[in-house]
Amino acid sequence: MTISPRDAGLKLLREHALIAGEVVTGAARIAVDDPATGEIIGHIPDLGVAETQKAIAAAVEAFPDWSRSDPHKRAAFLREWARLIDENTEGLGALMALENGKPFEEAKGEVAYANGFIKWFAGQAERLIGETQDSPLGHVILTFREAVGPCALITPWNFPAAMLTRKLGPAFAAGCTAVVKPASQTPFTALALAELAYQAGLPKGALSVITGDAATIGGALTSSPDIRKLSFTGSTPVGRKLAEQSAPTLKRVSMELGGAAPLIVFADADLDLAVAETIKGKFRNSGQTCVCPNRVYVEASVADEYATKLAAEVAKIPVGAAFEPGVKVGPLIEDKALDKVEDHLKRVRAAGGKVLTGGARHERGGRFFQPTVTLGGDDTLFREEETFGPLIPVFPFETEDEVLTKANDSEFGLASYLFTRDLDRAFRIGRRIEAGMCGVNTGLISTAVAPFGGVKSSGYGKEGSIHGIDEYVDIKAVTLALK
Ligand code: ADP
Repeated sequence: MTISPRDAGLKLLREHALIAGEVVTGAARIAVDDPATGEIIGHIPDLGVAETQKAIAAAVEAFPDWSRSDPHKRAAFLREWARLIDENTEGLGALMALENGKPFEEAKGEVAYANGFIKWFAGQAERLIGETQDSPLGHVILTFREAVGPCALITPWNFPAAMLTRKLGPAFAAGCTAVVKPASQTPFTALALAELAYQAGLPKGALSVITGDAATIGGALTSSPDIRKLSFTGSTPVGRKLAEQSAPTLKRVSMELGGAAPLIVFADADLDLAVAETIKGKFRNSGQTCVCPNRVYVEASVADEYATKLAAEVAKIPVGAAFEPGVKVGPLIEDKALDKVEDHLKRVRAAGGKVLTGGARHERGGRFFQPTVTLGGDDTLFREEETFGPLIPVFPFETEDEVLTKANDSEFGLASYLFTRDLDRAFRIGRRIEAGMCGVNTGLISTAVAPFGGVKSSGYGKEGSIHGIDEYVDIKAVTLALK
């Protein structure tokens, strides 16, 4: 008998936390809803300081054996975990679609993307390569890349699988143990992935997933001297706070924070390509993505043409709940997310921006918002704040210098995008733009093999690529005095 995708997702839903692989239910419970309907799909335990400390103690206990284990064995474990994830793509995708609201097809795409990190870091575990060097003191210096220690990993709700595997993949490859705190809106994907990790042979204690109040659990994790590394993905204000809280114990810290990505279209660009890629970049996860274009700048001579084409395409985007066929844009995660989109729309309109398509909550109600394009007005707001919803504000510009100044005049520097056929300009701007990442003639820049990370208030540290594992290793130097 075949079961529906929704039921396949519900089969993987576990209403408990995991401490060192053991199930913990807890007394108080937090409800998790389906953003498309507001219907409660399950509950998670509201755990606190005591349970977090238990998870930290387990990570400390498991660390010596795991960190000293043969890295090829850890690679084999990662490959087995990846195999189980591949096998469960439908169920994991459906579970994620239920708790996050993203279209089922897109959710399955995220499972594959998330698994890409595990597969990539399985390879990296086999390449924990050190160096040898002659010393001017007549010695030989050997370097070893050693696991940092027990890690705290705090993840957001927008990519419940990928934001976790891009941390756990390198952590396990390096030999670190981990305590994970998933977002309370989307905890079930993380719990399901953790269960599969244990099925794949992860030693007890190497991973705990703690659910509950973020500030309480975050406080317990950051204040613990046993946690040697914090990796956080989320908003800049929370990132700042966690970095501060981590300072007294001098933890290693990686921060993947907010963005306000500029997307620049020059008159010489292939406008149809620019329109298609703007849509791909913007509407993934209904615009709730830290790398999605937050402000589009178009050279004045083609601004009307680009904006008209964009609006015509955006007007056709099918909006709906995750399991409805063909849906490309889902609901927003919670009610206050719609208030923010409305506020941004109101402000760009007040500054003279015209709505070309959309412009209001979606007629189907709930947390759905119409995919929206505006033209003109003031871009200041969009340099300073992420909309995190399906609104594309387009602003005309006149010169390259002007647009580069605007693009860089932001506290943030995560992603950026550029459309041009001029190779010189692509390099010039690609190099001068203040962002950790720049897509040239593409709206999709994320893969496990690319270094992901920001500059300025978008944070520090890299995830994915050959650099991702550096966040989880210390370089040890052993100096040999040889006769
Ligand atoms: P978002 O806008 O993506 O919800 P947040 O920064 O609020 O961004 O949340 C990202 C993650 O950080 C979530 O898992 C959330 O539970 C967690 N978080 C929020 N506040 C705190 C805090 N004070 N300490 C630790 N974690 C927190």
